[in-house]
Amino acid sequence: MAFIMEKENRQNNNLPKTHPRYESLLYRHKIIEGMKNLVVAEAGLIAHGRGECLDYILGEKTNITAEKAIKAAVAMLLLAKKPVISVNGNVAALVPNEIVKLSKMINAPLEINLFYKKKGRVEAIKKLLENAGAHGIRGIYEDKMVEIEGLDSNRRLVESICYSDVILVPLEDGDRTEALKKLNKQVIAVDLNPLSRTSLCADITIVDNIVRTLPEMIKIVGELKKFSENELKKIIENFDNKKNIKNTLDLIINYIEKQKEDAFEILGT
Ligand code: ATP
Ligand code: MG
Repeated sequence: MAFIMEKENRQNNNLPKTHPRYESLLYRHKIIEGMKNLVVAEAGLIAHGRGECLDYILGEKTNITAEKAIKAAVAMLLLAKKPVISVNGNVAALVPNEIVKLSKMINAPLEINLFYKKKGRVEAIKKLLENAGAHGIRGIYEDKMVEIEGLDSNRRLVESICYSDVILVPLEDGDRTEALKKLNKQVIAVDLNPLSRTSLCADITIVDNIVRTLPEMIKIVGELKKFSENELKKIIENFDNKKNIKNTLDLIINYIEKQKEDAFEILGT
């Protein structure tokens, strides 16, 4: 009967799977759940909303420019001597299983790094990641950490990031990206905003939603693991981050133009 929803449709806080924006609603719920469990900061909800808005004008898909950046990023991570993955609350809430899987595949520790500290938050994120199979998570004990010079936010406290050569920074703050670059680290960003300070100063900028990027990275690691060092170096050499960001901005402009035409047709103007 039309009025009776299937049982599985009623799960996930009554989110009907048939809803045209089911995926987007599902991730909203993960973020809200994360906030209730202390994993996500209140401001994390707003950051997610900013991300959604940008995802909208990117067509809510992994574009060709993101694909290119993902391939270069995976090559860089596989060539790294000491890669690290920085994790914040939103990342842990949205993709705990995928971030743990990637960390194991490329042999890079996960390091919790937060802008907003609150009693019990680090422990809540640690628990969530451990439930997803993580071991040896960094960024838990302050006595093991050092401060990044020239950075005043809580994000200045780092552990293995300090000794790393390549850092994957999903949903990062621009201040810290700039500080990490000053320390000559190679930075790979995942950020839906191609114009953020993080995006503009990272070595490789993946303009895409973390929920799509991670499964894609995991797939590409499987493919590139068979490549020689020289082949991986070639992939990086052939990648131009500045050009790729410019191409991403053109993609957005073209997408909006197309949306405008479609809207005009509906509006009859
Ligand atoms: P910056 O500090 O780099 O200039 P900002 O201050 O505008 O950026 P922050 O809150 O510091 O933004 O960082 C959060 C970034 O994460 C934003 O650019 C936002 O678009 C992006 N973001 C939010 N959700 C996602 C997501 N699911 N996937 C990828 N990026 C996301
Ligand atoms: Mg910021």
